[in-house]
Amino acid sequence: MKGAFFMSTVSEVIDKWSKKAAPIEDVKETHTVDIVIVGAGLGGMVAAAKASELGSTLVLEKMPHIAAVRQAEWAFDSKFQRDAGQTFSAEERENIIGDLMRDDHWSMASQKVVTSFVDHSGALIDWIKPIIEKESDIRLEVEPGWGPYGVSYGKPGYPEPDWFVPLKKYMERNGAKILLNTRGVQLIQDGNGKVTGIIAKNGDGNYIRYNANKGVILTTGSFGKNQAMMEDFFPRYELYSHDMFYPESTGDGHIMALQAGADMESIAWGDSFLTSDVRYNNHTNSTSLADLVYWPAYACLPQLYVNENGKRFINEGGYKAGENPLFCDQANEMRIADGLFWQTPNNKAWSIFDDKNESKLDEKAKTQENGVLHIGGVTSSWPSHGINNHEKLDRDVQDGITVKADTIEELAVKIHMPVETLKATVSRYNEMCQQGHDSDFIKEPIWLNSIDTAPYYASRITSTPCCTRGGITIGPSGRVLDREGKDIKGLYAGGTTAGSALGWQTTINICIISQMFGWLAVQDAYGVLQKPVHSYEKMAEHA
Ligand SMILES: Cc1cc2nc3c(=O)[nH]c(=O)nc-3n(C[C@H](O)[C@H](O)[C@H](O)COP(=O)(O)OP(=O)(O)OC[C@H]3O[C@@H](n4cnc5c(N)ncnc54)[C@H](O)[C@@H]3O)c2cc1C
Repeated sequence: MKGAFFMSTVSEVIDKWSKKAAPIEDVKETHTVDIVIVGAGLGGMVAAAKASELGSTLVLEKMPHIAAVRQAEWAFDSKFQRDAGQTFSAEERENIIGDLMRDDHWSMASQKVVTSFVDHSGALIDWIKPIIEKESDIRLEVEPGWGPYGVSYGKPGYPEPDWFVPLKKYMERNGAKILLNTRGVQLIQDGNGKVTGIIAKNGDGNYIRYNANKGVILTTGSFGKNQAMMEDFFPRYELYSHDMFYPESTGDGHIMALQAGADMESIAWGDSFLTSDVRYNNHTNSTSLADLVYWPAYACLPQLYVNENGKRFINEGGYKAGENPLFCDQANEMRIADGLFWQTPNNKAWSIFDDKNESKLDEKAKTQENGVLHIGGVTSSWPSHGINNHEKLDRDVQDGITVKADTIEELAVKIHMPVETLKATVSRYNEMCQQGHDSDFIKEPIWLNSIDTAPYYASRITSTPCCTRGGITIGPSGRVLDREGKDIKGLYAGGTTAGSALGWQTTINICIISQMFGWLAVQDAYGVLQKPVHSYEKMAEHA
């Protein structure tokens, strides 16, 4: 059991969620297959496609549809990347594993599981690429925007191709079945605790028993929409004024696994973005961030951020560009969002900027390679005119999302902030901007733009999460572990239901990790999982 926040009560929390429900007796039918996969999201669909190659496969999905999916990926040493000219080495591999563990502060992630993820990621990409490309016109590309090991289906910013469609075609042709409107509700265990199947509730309200000869794989997503779980596992959860969790993320798999004796990481964390604290778009089933959150013009760029007392509290630019070699787009912004969450008492800050911030950024951008100020992120690169422009700013002011004033004093009054404190903060910030050196928070000079030209603006921003990290404890091939660290036979977890790989790091893309452990679980269940051999090892053998 890992974690720190609730150490004194951690056992109690896990005990509470592990209480067994009364066995469901009223079963209408029984069916038997090799593998049952619970949840047809990213983790479940990839696991099911693999399972369909090896034996009879059933996927249970509680929703009436299969969700669309994000497109970004990450992989180490796939043939596809090598063909594109990328090279890999033993040293790089160790650096990646080391960076991932450091990024997690060696807290929640298990190094064995992280290593397994890195070592198998290339093979996963090499397996999935021909399936997707044969069944559709979607093409996998090397994508430097997602970090040095980034690959993606289409480019970031373009409409996201739904590669569940080709995966579904593939698995159904191999004989796999997907049952929609069918919710997995209770695992079946034999006298030795081995999981032998699951009871599901179908759309007619009937309980059906599915025996699984090889295993049950839980890929039911995260638990962001289960308020009671969030209160127990997610520190300071009440500070979020809004979230982007999928509505179906209710932690069903976590709960079933806990009731079967599994261990769980005792805290969870989320991928969060900087967004407006005032306006949100309507929650839809879309996975596009733009459909869920609102970014006020200019406010989520690394401007001057102050807390409600008018004091600066953070390096608004986060990491230096290129400082962490594994960075994918968005990771830096997520860190700043985390900083805002932890460094303010209420997860709220005011972003302060002036009328000339755009032309100042334009000037700085001219000094950069390709004319782009880039730290990664949805909103934090410049130019980013789609989100940041003057017309939008005027609308934000009209809509009360951003406040406008002719002086800093007036701005402070309008946002109910101590006038003298805000004046002192702005004046200190301007002094450092003129010196080109932020001795208070060490923000990169490219983002230091003085606030000296009226009108002045303030927009309230916050950190908004989209999925939980922190889940059921697994081993390197997705086997669920009990509280003594032993396998629960027949039970696997993947996607965001599984913990042990994600931890606190926001460095690399969560999508590929979400796919990995269900995919490995299937191979483990059939006893066909191979030890990965990297290209540089093969070259050494042939030398
Ligand atoms: C708005 C948003 C934006 C994101 N952007 C990115 C991004 O840019 N890059 C990135 O890497 N990641 C991103 N993510 C995260 C990514 O979507 C998740 O990592 C991924 O979806 C997790 O896959 P999963 O299989 O664990 O869960 P999900 O994809 O959530 O799938 C879980 C499935 O299980 C089903 N289910 C739940 N309970 C049951 C049950 N009892 N029985 C049967 N079925 C059940 C659910 O209905 C769902 O279909 C984003 C997430 C959100 C919400």
